[in-house]
Amino acid sequence: MPYQIPSSDVVTNATNATNAAHAGRAGGERAAWLVAAKRLILSDDPKQRRYILSYLIGVANCVAGAVALNMGVSRGAIDASAGRWLTVTALLVSLGLYIVLRSGLNKRFQDPGMTGVQMKTGVVYLAWGYYIGGPGRTVALMLLFLILMFGMFVSSPRQLKIACLMSAVLFGISISAVAVQERDVLNMLHLHIVYYGVTLGILASLVYMGGEQARLRARLMRQKNELAAALKHIQELASHDDLTGLINRRQMNHLLATEQHRALRTGRPFSVCMLDVDHFKRINDGHGHGVGDEVLQSLAQVVQAELRDIDVLARWGGEEFVILFPDTAAQDAFSVVERVRGHLASIMVCSTHPDLRITASAGVSDYRADESLSALLDRADQALYQAKNQGRNRTIILA
Ligand code: GH3
Ligand code: MG
Ligand code: MG
Repeated sequence: MPYQIPSSDVVTNATNATNAAHAGRAGGERAAWLVAAKRLILSDDPKQRRYILSYLIGVANCVAGAVALNMGVSRGAIDASAGRWLTVTALLVSLGLYIVLRSGLNKRFQDPGMTGVQMKTGVVYLAWGYYIGGPGRTVALMLLFLILMFGMFVSSPRQLKIACLMSAVLFGISISAVAVQERDVLNMLHLHIVYYGVTLGILASLVYMGGEQARLRARLMRQKNELAAALKHIQELASHDDLTGLINRRQMNHLLATEQHRALRTGRPFSVCMLDVDHFKRINDGHGHGVGDEVLQSLAQVVQAELRDIDVLARWGGEEFVILFPDTAAQDAFSVVERVRGHLASIMVCSTHPDLRITASAGVSDYRADESLSALLDRADQALYQAKNQGRNRTIILA
C-alpha cells in the first residue's frame, strides 16, 4: 500500500509554509524600507555614506549635550535665553553642514569629509556651552575630548593640532570667564586652574597620539604597498621563466586548460606547436653555455615578435618551446610556424658570434573534442619527433 501523508502533517506543513511566506514578505518589506531610508539619509555613494554616517555620530553627541543643557535650563540652573540661543544656532549649523554633505557639495572641498570644519564648529559650541553650562559644564569638557578623539582617527595631524590649539584658546577664555563669575565662591579659582591645566595636558597628549596614529597609518600603508609588490613579484616568479622572460610550463598549462574549456563551449578549434632547437647541444659544446643562453633569449624574442597578438609562447623546458594558437586550425598554425621558423633561420641570434645561425623543428596538432590536454601535447610531441627523424629544420602536422 502506498505511503499516505497524515492529514494533520499536511495542515501543519501548509500553515508553516504560509507563515514563512508572510514572515519572508514582511522581512523583505522591512528590509526594503530600511534600505530606502538609509539611501535617503546617507546617500548611495559608499564614500559619501561613510562621511555622512561619521558626521551624524558627531551630531548625536552634540544633541546629547544640547539635551543636558536644556535639562539645566528647565531646572533653572542655566540662563534660559543663552541656552535657547546655543541650541537653536547649533541645530541650524548642524543642519547646514548636513545639507552640504548630503548634496555632495563637500566633494569639491580639499577635505571632503569636512572633519576639520566639524571639529572646529564642535570646539566653538562646546566652549560656549562650558561658559553658560552652570553646574553641568563639565559635560562640555567630556564631549570636547570625545570629538577630538574621534578626529584623531579620521583627520590629519595638522587638523587635529589646529582643533586642539583652538580648544586651548577658547576653553582658556571660557574657564577664565567662569572663574571671574565665580570669584566670590570659596576655593573655586584653584579648581578652575586645575581644570584648565588638566585640559591642556589632555590636549597635548591628543596631539602626540594623533601624530603617532598618523605615523602608524603611514607605516601600514607602506607595508601594504610593499606586500602587494612582493606578491606581484612572487606571482611573476611562479609563472615566468627567468632566462627568457616568457611564461613557463606551469602557466602555459593554465592557459591550455582555459582554452580547452573555451573550445568545448564554443566548438571553435585551437592548436599547439612544440618547437625545439636543432642540435642545440653543439652550440653549448662549441661556444659555451653563455652563448647557448643568449641564443635561447634571442629565439624567445624573435618568435614572440613574429607571432600574432593572440598566440602565446612559453618555455616548456631546456631548448623546447610550446606555442598556443587560440581559435586556430592546425593548417593555419602550420603556416604561422613555417613563417616563424624561416625568419628564425635567417637572423643573428648571438651578438658575439654574428655568423651563428640556428634552425628549429616543430610539431603541430589541433585539439580534438573530448581528448585530454596531455593527449593533445603527446601528438604535438610525436609530430616533433617525426620532424627530427625526417632530418630536422621542418614542421610536421599531426592533426
Ligand atoms: P636535437 O636536434 O635532437 O634537439 O638535439 P639537441 O642537441 O638540440 O638536443 P639535446 O636534447 O641532445 O640537447 C639539448 C641541450 O640543451 C642539452 C642541455 O644542456 C641544453 N640546455 C637545456 N637548457 C639550457 C639552458 O637553459 N641554457 C643552455 N645554454 N643550454 C641548455
Ligand atoms: Mg634540440
Ligand atoms: Mg629538446
